[in-house]
Amino acid sequence: MTRASSASAPLAAPDPELPADALDAADPLAALVSRFAPAGDVVSYLDGNSLGRPLTATSGRIEGFLRHDWGTRLIRSWDERWMDLPTVLGDRIGAAALGAAAGQTVVGDSTTVLLYKAIRALLAARPDRHEIVIDDDQFPTDRFVVEGIARERGATVRWVHVDPTLGVTVDLLADVVGPDTAVVLVNHVSYRSGYVADMAAITELVHAAGALVLFDLCHSVGVVPMRLDEWGVDVAVGCSYKYLNGGPGAPAFLYARRDLLPTLEQPIQGWMGAADVFAMADGYTPAPGIRRFISGTPPVVGMLPLHDMLDLVEEAGIDAIRAKSLALTDYAFALVDAWLGPLGVTVATPRAAELRGSHVTVTHPSFRAVVAALWEEGVVPDFRNPDGLRIGLSPLSTTFAEVRVGIAAIRAALLAG
Ligand SMILES: *Cc1c(COP(=O)(O)O)cnc(C)c1O
Repeated sequence: MTRASSASAPLAAPDPELPADALDAADPLAALVSRFAPAGDVVSYLDGNSLGRPLTATSGRIEGFLRHDWGTRLIRSWDERWMDLPTVLGDRIGAAALGAAAGQTVVGDSTTVLLYKAIRALLAARPDRHEIVIDDDQFPTDRFVVEGIARERGATVRWVHVDPTLGVTVDLLADVVGPDTAVVLVNHVSYRSGYVADMAAITELVHAAGALVLFDLCHSVGVVPMRLDEWGVDVAVGCSYKYLNGGPGAPAFLYARRDLLPTLEQPIQGWMGAADVFAMADGYTPAPGIRRFISGTPPVVGMLPLHDMLDLVEEAGIDAIRAKSLALTDYAFALVDAWLGPLGVTVATPRAAELRGSHVTVTHPSFRAVVAALWEEGVVPDFRNPDGLRIGLSPLSTTFAEVRVGIAAIRAALLAG
């Protein structure tokens, strides 16, 4: 099966001794880096895959919100703009980053809560089946939510064991997906290795078995292009504070396929997801469209930075963002091979362009101490148990020079330790 995700050609692989200047000079998105707020003492931010940086424009937006939308329009703002924000922003995320037509994406809650709602809804849509399939290297919250639902609903968890330097493949899933499978949960890009799961082929496999598929897009949205509508994905959730730079705790989003939507009933039925919000009715009737996935009052304040970030993603274009991401990860690989390989560091991320997201994970027994020392110097990658250092490359805010400074600092810390 050929992989449907198309990768744009990266820039030519650099000679690691070449300064980064030539790469920054050739970067068509270079000018956008200056839109981000100054990062103080940080000389190399390599953790945009965990918490993206803020835009300067957002401070004006927050001030205007305090003075106008909230300060003087007060409750009138619900009618004027706030009520529709979950779907207005959802549609923008869908168009800019998901390959999703309008009316299928909504913003609200955390990824964890949306995972819960989505899995419960999908499980209920396959009442004659009792298995949830998940792999053992998924992000902890995904595993915990699945285990909790299985206990609550008397469902069975079918674990797929994966190589932690890769992720879940069609072949591994083909061994376990069958007539008892209700839902298959897949992390599109592995938070550990950066491996990109084959969304189109997995969706096809799951559907052939009569089951439903849910993708967690936290580590791919805003950086790996996808075509949810075209590939027939059932439901997807993702957060907005990683590559979408929405800010700490910014609300997550949920996509549900238009023709499946009317059959999906999520368990946290609240007034804001009802067909007529202000009817104050006796009983609950879900909204006909994607609003049925909303439960309570939308997190308006938490959505503010997303407006500016979506402007930026729309301006840059997801394909250009992917091209820069591949160029950044290529450059990181070249520097890691030249400078860290000889010190005993190994690469735990697939090297093929179509198999990798936008972070590079490297391993070494000293990395826990190395990362702590680097943070003191304003070089900020992150550490993941047991011995992984993640170099997260957020294309809109990261320069090639920063990558070079960061990897040079990792080398110096290893030599010093
Ligand atoms: C970051 C991340 C989450 C985070 O969930 P929250 O509810 O926002 O804390 C979930 N899943 C994956 C795959 C992630 O990378």
